Amino acid sequence: MIVIAENCGMCVGAKNSVELAEQALAEAEQSGRTVVLFKELLHNPTVMGRLRERGAVCCDSLDGLPDNPLVVVRAHGETKAFYEEMKKRNIPFRDATCPNVRRVHELVEKAHAAGNAVIIFGQPGHPEVEGSNGWCGNQAFIVNDAKTLAALPAIRAEEICVVCQTTAGRNRTGELLEMLRSRMPDARITWHNTICPAPIAMQGPSRQLAMNCDILFTIGGRKSANTTELREYCKAANAAECPEQMETCREFHEYLEKNGDTVRRAKRYGFTAGASTPLSEVRKCASLLVSWLNADQERVPASRMTADSVVAGLPAASASQ
Ligand code: SF4
Repeated sequence: MIVIAENCGMCVGAKNSVELAEQALAEAEQSGRTVVLFKELLHNPTVMGRLRERGAVCCDSLDGLPDNPLVVVRAHGETKAFYEEMKKRNIPFRDATCPNVRRVHELVEKAHAAGNAVIIFGQPGHPEVEGSNGWCGNQAFIVNDAKTLAALPAIRAEEICVVCQTTAGRNRTGELLEMLRSRMPDARITWHNTICPAPIAMQGPSRQLAMNCDILFTIGGRKSANTTELREYCKAANAAECPEQMETCREFHEYLEKNGDTVRRAKRYGFTAGASTPLSEVRKCASLLVSWLNADQERVPASRMTADSVVAGLPAASASQ
């Protein structure tokens, strides 16, 4: 049987950004503008390729914009300086910043304006973290692990506002908060839980699936933090084989060709995907697996599958195990 984990695939914020980009492309057909996906709209090569085919271009800096642009800001958000510059240059844009990320911007901006210090639990250099830092004058302390936390200088502000990258792991964040509190017992720490519920809602069913199948495939961009986190979370169940995440259906096919024995040995197959992967891509991989196993049937008759073999979510009996 082939099972696709419940709740997996593209989140509301990512879907919204793709829709906004598609609307911008439709508008651009009328206006003659060039749609610019500022930096990478989302970490998914398939979606990015499709938008490029429709005429969108990618650009990493305002100085590199083409003539007559219509800029789409990604769900990860941008810095305050970016918006100021866009306004100054009178550049039209569509803003796909996810409301969960915008909340982080508002919190850090307010804290900074009040003279408080800001700590962001998140990956240094991650676009969302860089964007958020840009709303508090790039003065935030970015803390990723025990080492960066131990290296924090003495913070003299009256209050410390702590937020986290929306895709940060719950357990790691909880541990960091505890460490911070014991490292600075006298500091007034205001903790805002800015973890997005979408990746969390994905984790439970995916891990459950990992415990009920022989091999779990994770489909999603390698640069996608939540996809990496999801795979690690499933792998930690120490049950199913969890190969490295695969970005595209083509990569999945390559995996099947290179790891035929492992795939043939399995009887129960699972799929999951991060918040930037369209469910259609996961379904495509599942169908590919069906065809691949069927092409293999002469050697392994028991592997015969039909399109009905692909189901969404675990059957109730397995899920309750
Ligand atoms: S994972 Fe959450 S915060 Fe990030 S884009 Fe999706 S809905 Fe928004």
